[in-house]
Amino acid sequence: MKKHNFSAGPAILPASVLEEAARGVLNINDSGLSILEISHRSKDFIAIAAQAEQLVRELLNLSDDYAVMFLSGGASTQFFMAPMNLLNEDETACYVNTGSWADKAAKEAKNFGKIETLASSKEQNYTFIPRGWEVPAYAKYLHLTSNNTIYGTQFHWWPDTEVPIVCDMSSDMFSRTIPVEKFGLIYAGAQKNMGPAGTTLVIVRKDLLGKVKRTLPSMLNYTTHIDNDSMYNTPPVYAIYVSMLTMKWIKEQGGLTAIEAHNQAKGDLFYHELDANPLFHGTVTVKEDRSLMNPTFLAINEEVDKAFDAAAKAAGIDGIRGHRSVGGFRASMYNAMPLEGVQVLVDVMKDIAQKMG
Ligand SMILES: *Cc1c(COP(=O)(O)O)cnc(C)c1O
Repeated sequence: MKKHNFSAGPAILPASVLEEAARGVLNINDSGLSILEISHRSKDFIAIAAQAEQLVRELLNLSDDYAVMFLSGGASTQFFMAPMNLLNEDETACYVNTGSWADKAAKEAKNFGKIETLASSKEQNYTFIPRGWEVPAYAKYLHLTSNNTIYGTQFHWWPDTEVPIVCDMSSDMFSRTIPVEKFGLIYAGAQKNMGPAGTTLVIVRKDLLGKVKRTLPSMLNYTTHIDNDSMYNTPPVYAIYVSMLTMKWIKEQGGLTAIEAHNQAKGDLFYHELDANPLFHGTVTVKEDRSLMNPTFLAINEEVDKAFDAAAKAAGIDGIRGHRSVGGFRASMYNAMPLEGVQVLVDVMKDIAQKMG
């Protein structure tokens, strides 16, 4: 039975992408070779990489002021690579602590410059997005985590500032339209919403580079990768290929405006049930901050928790347990999750309420 994959990551991919990706493993572009065994310098792969970059540019309406890279090392590598490339020892960057990924990003950045935490919801177990903070004009950049995968919160607004935003969009990349001109750098590990594990998309405004005094190892210097079209070393060929197929799928769905409407519809369907159902409650305390990608929720008691877990499994729902630091459940609903999948989940919740409520 085909499962409904609510995993937080590595996560669901569109069925048509998986089929094409499987064909590519056997025979890419009728070349008689597998995507896994061709050179990254071959014309087949160079065309794939160029198409991947072109799709990023098209989906985000990106100008030539920005460079696009496909790197490895995960989003976690960007926690230190971004400050290394953007921040001098005597300069300040500002961070907002909205979750453990944001916390880790700030921790790494402290090795490269002065870090100010403008706001934090850590003491409240990250149950909301802090408001009422301002970005000082002397900041080189403001770091945000747009969607907090573990805690189920998401920025649905952007701060009013001229300071360039450096944003970890790992878990909501390409899930909605964004005002790209506000961002100096965007990074996203592919495995949440863009493709399989193994590559990280990095988009950077080029004028921010070349300003740090420290010596950068070639592999950790964005300029190296930009100058070499992300092929300074062997890139993660397969991860880039499948990410390209996923972006092509997003474009075919109508691009980010259509994807955003679809994600909103799924969120509305789920949260409507969560708010109406007496046996469950959300973990996020401020409704406006709830994530459309990773809704987190708890059952009112252990009996309901167990019954729901069993009923969900029986309905083919997979990957719905919450992160160990939050407990309960997390129904990740990335781009490729169809509305019908969310309906199956909602029906299980309704059914439990009828039986036990
Ligand atoms: C998963 C995740 C990360 C870590 O990504 P890796 O690619 O495993 O390093 C960082 N930030 C956010 C928001 C995430 O969801």
